[in-house]
Amino acid sequence: MAVRKIVKMGDELLRKKCKPVTVFDEKLAELLDDMKETMYAFDGMGLAGPQVGVLRRVAVIDVNNMFVELVNPQIIKAEGEDVEYEGCLSCGKQREAVKRPMKVTVKAQDRFGYEFVITGEKWLARCMCHEIDHLDGILFLDKAEKKG
Ligand code: ZN
Repeated sequence: MAVRKIVKMGDELLRKKCKPVTVFDEKLAELLDDMKETMYAFDGMGLAGPQVGVLRRVAVIDVNNMFVELVNPQIIKAEGEDVEYEGCLSCGKQREAVKRPMKVTVKAQDRFGYEFVITGEKWLARCMCHEIDHLDGILFLDKAEKKG
């Protein structure tokens, strides 16, 4: 495993729409392992493919000590609303209030290609939405609540 370099705001890579993962091989496993290590090294709650320069639909998340790998994640249900300050490993120390669903259900695949469904509330919901946005080139700053 290796800690990878994090792509920072301003880089075009963060604005690209990522392609689905179609091959579930050793290379994908290595990418996910590296993303996990990188997320922990920088004390993040989540990390998406483009943040390590890989334009594929992959993300890793750790909320409340529950680690999840999401391959080709899709939100299939979203309920309620919640506003919290969030940040991003690609955006330095900046924190902004962002409105997200309070509860989301996500369908994804694991590193072997098996489908699963995960439902998260509050921070897990927020984190999954934030990472899935990355896969479509969207940053949390785009969704920040207007000030004043
Ligand atoms: Zn982020």
